[in-house]
Amino acid sequence: MADSNGSTVQWPDGHVLLRVLDRPLPVAARGEGVWIYDDAGNAWLDGSSGAFVTSVGHGNREVVTSIADALGRLAYVNGTQFTNRPTEDLAARLAALAPPGLDKAFFLASGSEAVEASLKFCRQLWYDRGQPQRDTVIARTPSYHGNTLYALSASGRPHYKTVYGPLLSDVATVSSPYEYRSNAPAWPGAASFYADELEAKIRAIGEDRVAAFIAEPIIGSSAGAALPPPGYFAALREVCDRYGVLMIADEVLVGVGRTGTFFACESQGFEPDLLVLGKGIGGGYAALSAVLVKSTHVEEMKASSGKFMHAQTYMQAPMMTAAGVAVLDYLDRHGVVAHAAEVGVTLQARLRERVGRLPGVGNVSGRGLLAGVEFVADRATRAPFERSRKVAEAVTRAAFDRGLVVWPNVGQADGTRGDLVMIAPPLTITRDEIDTLVARLAAAIDDVLG
Ligand code: PLP
Repeated sequence: MADSNGSTVQWPDGHVLLRVLDRPLPVAARGEGVWIYDDAGNAWLDGSSGAFVTSVGHGNREVVTSIADALGRLAYVNGTQFTNRPTEDLAARLAALAPPGLDKAFFLASGSEAVEASLKFCRQLWYDRGQPQRDTVIARTPSYHGNTLYALSASGRPHYKTVYGPLLSDVATVSSPYEYRSNAPAWPGAASFYADELEAKIRAIGEDRVAAFIAEPIIGSSAGAALPPPGYFAALREVCDRYGVLMIADEVLVGVGRTGTFFACESQGFEPDLLVLGKGIGGGYAALSAVLVKSTHVEEMKASSGKFMHAQTYMQAPMMTAAGVAVLDYLDRHGVVAHAAEVGVTLQARLRERVGRLPGVGNVSGRGLLAGVEFVADRATRAPFERSRKVAEAVTRAAFDRGLVVWPNVGQADGTRGDLVMIAPPLTITRDEIDTLVARLAAAIDDVLG
């Protein structure tokens, strides 16, 4: 069978429980830079880095060689009996880049695990401090922090929770600073609106009951790369400090140069108490996530429980951390974060010029090499399309048929309705490739909504 990009589809045996069950998928055979190829020679521009993962592009020989060298030396050791060089190197490199005080790191495979471990870290810290009543987490809606049970509980995505509701935990929520759909007053002055909402929430829960507040510094797919109003995180930092609430920056999607600075909290001008990375830090060469914490907090745990009470088999495994070191080396050696910031300005401008005014496009948002394009039935009222039209899926499919991979998201308008696609190419993309990306996206939108 062939899809409209001419590709042979679906592995013949078909025993994999695929992510989509309603259509066959092409078999990706190899990649090079921003391009993915199948065996029939069809090519797709990876406009979303897969799921925001392939930060240093496909087929990156320098990264592969460096990982192979490390694994040739050591495959795995038990983290209670050994440490190892790749893991020590990665932690040291991240500590040197991180905001002050975030000088310890531990590693997991997925963003969901890292988010969950960061929340457990906060909970244990309060327990060890003799404040076990601090048992509540505040997150934002819309948001996404992962799919394991507690990470999903903390995610402001009602439609993901319908089936699993009975298995989930209570997590308090405040609104996300989602400018296009915010009911805050004039945007430049909106920081205090959100700070007041957070303070009211903390007071309603109990002034000494909240353990942590978790937020993405720039919102990923759940609100189309929405940027907070100026001063938002400074204002929320003040509120958190007033009530002793620990702030977690979830940079699983927006970290590692994606939004023009290595960490997204740098551009948003605040210093979190914990910072979570995933996706781009392993670049797709290994499943790798990281939690950065303060050694002052670790010292408190050491003096009380004796250690952080959280362990998984592959924590600190060289096969994960060697990939992180190789990716950081590549970023440094080739000045990739500075390059991404520069070409990110081009991407943002081109999207606004070429895509922003197309029929059915309500909004373009983002920073650096992360952008969201939101579709609306009515530009004036910002009314979303009915879900039955599946606009985000249709645009994604049309783009795919034109040789471009983008990432769809739905439900951001009211928990059910809302259609957008995310653009997040590898950080190594060139300006010419950005032009190809934008031209294909514009054509795909025109196919569906023109
Ligand atoms: N946090 C954010 C902001 C994410 O975007 C994601 C995944 O998309 C996660 C956490 C969960 O990461 P993973 O899918 O690797 O478990």
